[in-house]
Amino acid sequence: MELAGCDGCTGCHLRCADGVQTTLTEWDAVRNYIAVAPESQRVAIAVVESQDKTIDLGDDVTVKMCRYFDIQTRGCAVYPARPLICRLMGHVEWLPCPIDKVTHPVPTPLALDLMRTYSKFERRTFAAWEQDPEA
Ligand code: SF4
Ligand code: SF4
Repeated sequence: MELAGCDGCTGCHLRCADGVQTTLTEWDAVRNYIAVAPESQRVAIAVVESQDKTIDLGDDVTVKMCRYFDIQTRGCAVYPARPLICRLMGHVEWLPCPIDKVTHPVPTPLALDLMRTYSKFERRTFAAWEQDPEA
């Protein structure tokens, strides 16, 4: 995937809504990323997690954002450890880049093969894994 154009771009930030589904391995990757981060970064991530995640879209419409979405910067606090669905944003046919910045998305047959494999793993929200990783 051509990720260079995405680096530092927050043009699709509204897609970071609450409820992202991950595998247990991905959840572990996020937790490990935080666990080994420098203290200042762990504190910064904790601040992000404590933010009010509600974004007002106007006309009485609000959206609750992902726990790792930084309301201030519009970025992801765990970007290097983000799960697959976040990595695919903008790079597959069914999650197109909203600003047409990604010019070479992953060919759909390849992306579908990836999703068929990925779908064999149990997926839950961050909150569900945190609540009971053994269930
Ligand atoms: S998918 Fe598009 S909007 Fe999202 S980060 Fe990449 S270039 Fe930016
Ligand atoms: S993990 Fe990061 S990239 Fe994925 S939805 Fe949450 S804030 Fe967005």
